[in-house]
Amino acid sequence: MNKKNELKGRCACGNVNFKIENSPLFTQACHCKNCKLSTGSSFVIHTMVMEEDFKISGDVASIDLPTGSGQGYDAYFCIICGVYIFCRYNISKGRIAVRTKTLEEPIEPQAHIFVKDKDPCIEIKDKTICHDTMYDREKTWPKESLDRIK
Ligand SMILES: [Zn+2]
Ligand SMILES: [Zn+2]
Repeated sequence: MNKKNELKGRCACGNVNFKIENSPLFTQACHCKNCKLSTGSSFVIHTMVMEEDFKISGDVASIDLPTGSGQGYDAYFCIICGVYIFCRYNISKGRIAVRTKTLEEPIEPQAHIFVKDKDPCIEIKDKTICHDTMYDREKTWPKESLDRIK
């Protein structure tokens, strides 16, 4: 483990704190309707990390929610302030998606997905990272990240 790569984050009230002990795999913004509903906002930004690299303290509650694919996911919230910290997709074993904006250090999205459902008030400058729906992971993720999930 390289300490320099370590990222830290927390919920709004400070009950939940977490660390990501290795480089994240990929960061993406999703503009789909499910993500709008779960955030009450225009889009979500998720940073995918290996579950073994994620260390959390403080009590969280979880709920099973639907996804566009129908596979569903478990979302984890701070039991006090309700901030949504991370989720575990049923189709992505061994990996979790951290809510990027709970991290101390900003990470820019490497892709925007479900741009077909994007709110008109949102303008994404870099069109080359926009995808109407989902991308092909083999063509979009850095090779280093693809190797880590094999
Ligand atoms: Zn909290
Ligand atoms: Zn979404």
